[in-house]
Formats: sequence, structure tokens, C-alpha cells
Amino acid sequence: MSAQLIDGKEVAASIISDLEGRIKVLADRGIVPGLAAVLVGHDPASATYVSSKAKKCKKLGMYSEVIQEPTTLKQDELVAIVKRLNNDPKIHGILVQSPLPKHIDELSVTLNINPEKDVDGFHPHNVGMMSIGRPGLLPCTPLGIVKLLSYYKIDPSGKEVVVVGRSNIVGKPIASMLVQKAEMANATVTIAHSRTMNLPEVTRRADILIAAIGYPEFIKGDMIKDGAVVIDVGINRIDDPSSNKGYRLTGDVEFSSAVEKASFITPVPGGVGLMTIAMLMSNTVTAAENLNP
Ligand code: NAP
Repeated sequence: MSAQLIDGKEVAASIISDLEGRIKVLADRGIVPGLAAVLVGHDPASATYVSSKAKKCKKLGMYSEVIQEPTTLKQDELVAIVKRLNNDPKIHGILVQSPLPKHIDELSVTLNINPEKDVDGFHPHNVGMMSIGRPGLLPCTPLGIVKLLSYYKIDPSGKEVVVVGRSNIVGKPIASMLVQKAEMANATVTIAHSRTMNLPEVTRRADILIAAIGYPEFIKGDMIKDGAVVIDVGINRIDDPSSNKGYRLTGDVEFSSAVEKASFITPVPGGVGLMTIAMLMSNTVTAAENLNP
């Protein structure tokens, strides 16, 4: 079997095209959805990510603000920025880019973001609402995974889902979303991690296997059940002297062996990674709608 590719570019484009209509409805009421991204320090990957978010916002006719602060910024100064953004009517979504310098406690900062503007879906209020299946802003990468499944009409209901990885930004929230008694959910979910015994036996149970580990090509074809849907969240840089950049991106799944076992598979790049920014835009528009009923 050679799996069908799940095309993140196509799905993200369809989400953006839906957003255009919603942005127009808001514009007719004089509302421009606004996203503020706060960047502390000079991590080049974060800077690139934040500037591409800002560009996407502008292209969509949204307002965007990038607040760049030095690594020496104190925690209370960052909290003051967040509080100012909470009170700024132009801003509907607030994003504090990770990683933050070590002297800043990320949770304390997140707790100060108005949950209605928490477009990353990391505030404990939104995490709690997600876990009890109530409306709230959902984290972008897991939400993107659900949208990919939905677009390809892969209904998780009744399926065995195995999520490898238990981070608060991917593993736990995607498990929480897929176990809900709700549409595009109702799955039987297992979360595996570094202490899981006999991992290949666990992953081979999966009808839908979601890899969010952070190790290049960790999941091999022999860890995948025939016909499984494979969602590769990993984005890893590996050295590649033959490439102009000197590196290439690879997922947490060994694509060459997995593609022969899976029925559907997300490529890296071109899969889940492209969904995250689209979902961030979507959450910002949702926040603008919710804040202006
Ligand atoms: P993370 O916080 O480092 O978590 C990694 C998880 O993998 C942990 O739960 C860890 O287990 C588990 N793990 C590590 N080694 C393992 C092993 N040998 N066997 C089984 N499980 C193992 O990573 P993350 O933030 O979730 O990110 C995961 C990957 O997704 C990364 O490549 C990241 O770049 C990518 N990512 C992509 C997007 C996107 O597409 N936009 C967004 C976020 C992340 P323990 O908990 O036991 O340590």
C-alpha cells in the first residue's frame, strides 16, 4: 500500500478562504481582527515564525502588532505588556512566543492573558473548558490536526488513537480533544511517552497514530498497523550538506517506510506544520467575533 498524502497546504488554504468571509462580515461592522505577538529575546526561529504570522495577518486584512523586547525584560514588565494588550480594543488575540528567557515563569504570564484573547489556547481556563468539552479557544496545532482529519473525512469515532508524546501543547490537548463525546472525536485514546513499555506494540494498535515526540524519524513503518492514518507533528532539522541551507526538515515518522503501511499520512514539511498558523488566524477571528457579539 502507498498512503494518500494529507495536504496541509490545501486544507490551510480552505480554512483561510473561509476566514476571508468572516473577516468581511466583521469589517462591515467596523471591526478588524487584531493579533499581537510578544517576542522576548532574539531566538531566530521564533523571530521568523512571528514575522510570518504578522505577514499572514496583513495579507488577510487583519491588524497585527509585533512587540519585540530584549532578553533582559523582567517578568513584571512582560505581565504589564500583556495587561495593556488585554485592555487594547484593537487587539483580539495575544500570543507570547515561546521559548521565554529562563528568569520568566511562562505560566504566570499565561495566567495574566485574558482567556478570551488567549489565541494559543494555553490559559488554564481554556485548557479546562477543552477538557470538559465546553466552548473555548483551542490550541492551534491540535485543532489543526482535527481540521486535517475532518477535511479528509477521517472520523475518529470508535477508532483506536495512539498519541506518542504528552506535551501540554500537542500530545495532551489532541488526546483531550479526540476523546470528547462530540463530532470528530469519540475515539479510544492512548497517550504514550518515554516511559511507555513496548511502544511498538502500543503504536501498532492505532487506527490513527499521532507522533509528537521531537526525534527525527523515530516511528518506523514496522511500528504502524496496515492501513493506519499517520499524523506526523514533528518538525526536526537534520544536517544535509546536499541542501543549499545545509539542513532539511524531517518529521518524527520515517516517511519512506511509513508511507508503505499507512492509508493516509501527513508529509513534513507540508502537513500539520502549515495548519498551526491558519488555526491561529482562525482563533483570532473567533476571538474578535466573541468579543464583539
Ligand atoms: P516535547 O514537549 O519535547 O514532548 C515530547 C514528548 O515525546 C514527551 O512527552 C516525551 O515523553 C515524548 N518522548 C520523548 N522520547 C520518547 C520516546 N523515546 N518514546 C516515547 N515518547 C517519547 O515536544 P512537543 O512540543 O510536543 O513537540 C513534539 C514535536 O512536534 C517536535 O518535533 C516539535 O518541533 C513539533 N511541533 C510542531 C508543531 C507544528 O507543527 N506547528 C507545533 C508544536 C510542536 P516524556 O513526557 O516522558 O518526556
